[in-house]
Amino acid sequence: MNMNDLLTITHTGDEYEKYLGAVVPPIFMNSLHVFPDFESYLNFDDYKEDSFIYGRESNPTAHIMERKIAELEHGTMALAFASGMAAGTAAVMATCSTGSHIICLHNTYGPLKDFISRYCVEKFHMTVTFLHGTDLEELEAAIRPETSLIILESPATFVFTVVDLEAIAKIAKKHHVTTYIDNSCCSPYYQKPLDFGIDIVMHTMSKYLGGHSDIIGGVLVSKDETLMKRIREQERALYGGIIGPMEAWLVIRGIRTLPARLAMHQENAMKVASYLEQHPKVKQVFYTGLKSNPQRELIEKQQIGHTGLLSFIIDAPVEKVPFFIDQLKIFKIGCSWGGFESLVMAPLYRSSQEELDLRGVPDGKCLIRIHCGLEGADVLIQDLGQALAAI
Ligand SMILES: *Cc1c(COP(=O)(O)O)cnc(C)c1O
Repeated sequence: MNMNDLLTITHTGDEYEKYLGAVVPPIFMNSLHVFPDFESYLNFDDYKEDSFIYGRESNPTAHIMERKIAELEHGTMALAFASGMAAGTAAVMATCSTGSHIICLHNTYGPLKDFISRYCVEKFHMTVTFLHGTDLEELEAAIRPETSLIILESPATFVFTVVDLEAIAKIAKKHHVTTYIDNSCCSPYYQKPLDFGIDIVMHTMSKYLGGHSDIIGGVLVSKDETLMKRIREQERALYGGIIGPMEAWLVIRGIRTLPARLAMHQENAMKVASYLEQHPKVKQVFYTGLKSNPQRELIEKQQIGHTGLLSFIIDAPVEKVPFFIDQLKIFKIGCSWGGFESLVMAPLYRSSQEELDLRGVPDGKCLIRIHCGLEGADVLIQDLGQALAAI
């Protein structure tokens, strides 16, 4: 446990003296700020502390939230958006232009893959190379003169493979390519990619940072202030996708319990993963916390903890997958994760065999992804046990 992180989480941005001693900073539910005279309006400086002009550019509540996340991620600046996708697409548009080449992991979050491989390719004539990211020679060989961005996710969506952040950041720097990572799975509390040399970190705040399944939001963090100021002025202010003040406030509230929640998610998921690993009707379990994980050494270098997310392949015909899911009572059927509740889905059930092979999960149609919520490990194990017994 990191003492600095805990202080950041509990107190950064509180500034009681500024807000009448309120123990929780207020929600600035306003669209603009007025000025005492025209001269100060004309001399407005966006980057002076405590200077605000219009809610599409910045908001005091959002700014408190951004300070907390920037500090937690060991970045110097954070920018909050209306969703994780708004943050991710802003980062792509900020670092790429017409004709750019992007390198992206196969197991990256689907909608971002769609954004680059369809939208950016069709509209901006970009090109994309998908790879696993575990073969560093292959990754370096894929870099071209027009490569602008390497998109990473570690642990990655669905099967939680990790990639060597430090090694990839080094290769990218050598070739002057920007690196971007979706760090949503670990949250800044369990993994700090900027410390390994990654340039931009993205989080959806709709998952662990919000933590209560009640908001949609996203954030970018970096140490590169020139880049971040450009994103603030262009991709955020011009596209207009800033987070709302209420959501920002809920993120501040959510983060306050992040370490406590993550510890319990981790404890539950660890017990559930160990249970599933020895179950005769489970072929394979994907969880970063398992001792048997083939990438254990790298995981321990990069992460200081594991989350509530895991997946497993059931030893049953594909047709049994919907039946298995329907047997579960505590795990609700839903596509998200990161809240208090346990969720289940079969994310690759409708994928083509070609896609499954590319993702490196040939049995992927039988892949069950669960989020272990805060109901308690015993209840979750019992629920999984009765559903497995039914198939
Ligand atoms: C949900 C999710 C996103 C997208 O976040 P939104 O806030 O829904 O836009 C991005 N990456 C990962 C890993 C996610 O799970």
